[in-house]
Formats: sequence, structure tokens, C-alpha cells
Amino acid sequence: MFMYVFSCQYSQNKNKTSSNKKQNISNKMKKTEVEWKRSLTDQEYRILREKGTERAFIGKYDGHFEEGVYECAGCGSKLFQSETKYRSGCGWPAFYDAIPGAIEEHDDNTLGMRRIEITCSKCDGHLGHVFNDGPKPTGLRYCVNSVSMDFQPGKK
Ligand code: FE
Repeated sequence: MFMYVFSCQYSQNKNKTSSNKKQNISNKMKKTEVEWKRSLTDQEYRILREKGTERAFIGKYDGHFEEGVYECAGCGSKLFQSETKYRSGCGWPAFYDAIPGAIEEHDDNTLGMRRIEITCSKCDGHLGHVFNDGPKPTGLRYCVNSVSMDFQPGKK
């Protein structure tokens, strides 16, 4: 009896996972490297596709606090609402929350650090990293390259 219940649950979980995977694949924007190079500036390509980082304190959205929505510079997907942006002093635009489903997280152990990389869930473009030293209510700091984003004023 126990085995039956266990195997039944297992197969349900398995089905769930495989249907999620299918959905993720179909929602992704896929482009070849040549297509990305054509549609992005050199700087956008270096950061979004090659996981580069813009220099601290020089990004166009670091000190930018207008009302609106920040979208992915690679695919236009909505990433962050202006209400969640705050002055972290870290040198890059910082948000304490992301729009649900907009961001994917990945372990990043490069440069001798253990960090969590954040990417756009639609086009896989590199955005920055998320840290756990942010303000309430989430305690998170989504630290994002300005180059990875476009701003749409007044839009939600
Ligand atoms: Fe994107």
C-alpha cells in the first residue's frame, strides 16, 4: 500500500515537472548569437549575453526614480516596478522585488564568490545578481545593470 501511494505521488510530480518544462521552453525567446549581435548594441550584448557588468555609479538608472516600469533591454519583458526601486548605495539600480515570473535565479560561483545570478525568464539575458541584504518587506536586493533595462514611464 505504501509503495502504491509513493509511486502514485511520484508520477504526479513527474508529470507536473515535465509540463512546466514544456511551458518554459515554449515561452522562451530564442535567437542565435548572430541575431542577438544584430539586435543589441555592443554594450548590451556584452552584459546581457556575455554576463558582463557595467561600472558602478555610472549606469543611467542608478539614480533614476521616476514612476514606471523597467523592461528587459533584450526582449521587452516587464521586470521591475518603480515602486520597488530604492537607494541601496551599491552603485547599480536596486529593487527589493521583481515582477512575478519575470526573473530566473542561478548559482554563480565565478570570481571566487558565491552569488545568485538573475536572468530574464523570457530571453535568458543576464541582468545582475540578487542578494539578501535588501530592505523590508522582502529583505532582497536585486542588483541590476542599467544597460540590461529600458524604462517605460508611467506604465504598469
Ligand atoms: Fe529578456
